[in-house]
Amino acid sequence: MEFIKNLTYLDIERFVLDLGYEKFRAKQIWFAIYRNRVNSFEEIQTLPKSLRKELSNNFYINSIVSNRLEKASDGTIKFLFKFKNGSAAESVFIPWDKGLKERKTLCVSSQIGCALACSFCATGKLGLKRNLTPSEIIDQIFECEKIIGTRLTNIVFMGMGEPLQNFRTLVQVLNVLTDEDCKLFSRKNITVSTSGIVPKIYDLAKIERPVKLAISLHSTDEELRKKLMPIAKKWNLKEIREAAINYYRTTKLPITYEYILFDGLNDSEIDAKRLAKFARAVPSKVNIIPFHRIDFVELDDFQKQLKPSSFEKIIQFKNVLKSEGVRAFIRSSSGYEINGACGQLAFANYKQFVQCE
Ligand code: SF4
Repeated sequence: MEFIKNLTYLDIERFVLDLGYEKFRAKQIWFAIYRNRVNSFEEIQTLPKSLRKELSNNFYINSIVSNRLEKASDGTIKFLFKFKNGSAAESVFIPWDKGLKERKTLCVSSQIGCALACSFCATGKLGLKRNLTPSEIIDQIFECEKIIGTRLTNIVFMGMGEPLQNFRTLVQVLNVLTDEDCKLFSRKNITVSTSGIVPKIYDLAKIERPVKLAISLHSTDEELRKKLMPIAKKWNLKEIREAAINYYRTTKLPITYEYILFDGLNDSEIDAKRLAKFARAVPSKVNIIPFHRIDFVELDDFQKQLKPSSFEKIIQFKNVLKSEGVRAFIRSSSGYEINGACGQLAFANYKQFVQCE
C-alpha cells in the first residue's frame, strides 16, 4: 500500500487511465484529497464505487497515526507526529497576532534528524535518520490545521532537516501547496530555509512557482562559519552570495538571511557592518535570532562555549544593520519554554515515544 499524497497529479492521472477510467477522475481525486480533505475514499461520492474500491485497495490517505503536543504560554504549540511506518518528526505552530495583521505559521520538518551537524542545533545531534516523504510533510500541515481548528497562513521549512537535501520531495510538496486550483497557500507565504546548499539554491530558483528563500548565514567570517556550520567547508560565502543574487534575479523575491547572535563570536559592530555589506547585494532582510540553549543534548567543547548575546547587544546589532541600510528584525523565541524554538527540535521530551531507527 502506498500513501496517495506521495503521488503527483500525473501519477494519479496515470493510475485512473490504466484502470480504464476517464482523465477527469484524477481531478476529482485531487480535489477530494487536497481541497475537501477526505479521510476515506468512500467519502468521494462523485467517483464510481468501483474506483473508490480500487483506491482503498491501493492507497492510504493519512501517513500520521498519532500525535503529542505541548503548548507554551505564548500560544506556540510543538507537535510530535508519529508516522505509520513507526518514526516521528516535530513541527511547531507559531501564532502571531498584531491587531489587523494575523499570521498562523507552521514550521515543518523535511527530514528526521539532519546530517549537517550545525553546532547550535539539537537536530544536528540526531544525525540523519531519513528523508520525509511528500505525504509525511503535507500531513504535518493538515494534521496541525485539524488540531488547531483553523487554516494556517504561512509555512516555513525550518523544522528538522535541511529541505534542499530532500529536494525532489520538497519540490513535489511545493507543487501541491501552491497548486493553482487548490489554492492552499500563496507562494509568497511559504519560506524554504537552507544552510547554503548552493547548487540546489540555483535549482530551486527554476521551479514553476518559486517561494521565498531564507539562508542561514550566522557569520560572515569564513573560518567561524565553518566551525558553526560544517557545510560551509563545501560552499563558501562568495558562492552563497552569488546563488542568492541569482535567486533574486530569477524569482524577484527578496532573500532572508538568518543570523543567530553568539556572545563575543559574531555580534560586534564589525560583524554587523560585514553582514550589511553581504546582505545589500540584493533586496533582502536579516532575521536576528537569539541563541537558544540546547544543553539537553550532549555538547562538544566548542558547543559548550556558545552563549547567547545579551539583549542590549542584539539591539545594538540590529541598529547597526539599520544604519547601514539593511532591514533587520529580531525574531522572537516562540516556544522556547517547550524546547520548540529555533534549533531546539530533537525530541527533547519524548525519548520513550519516539523510535527513530
Ligand atoms: S540548523 Fe538546520 S541544517 Fe543545521 S543541523 Fe539543524 S536542521 Fe540541520
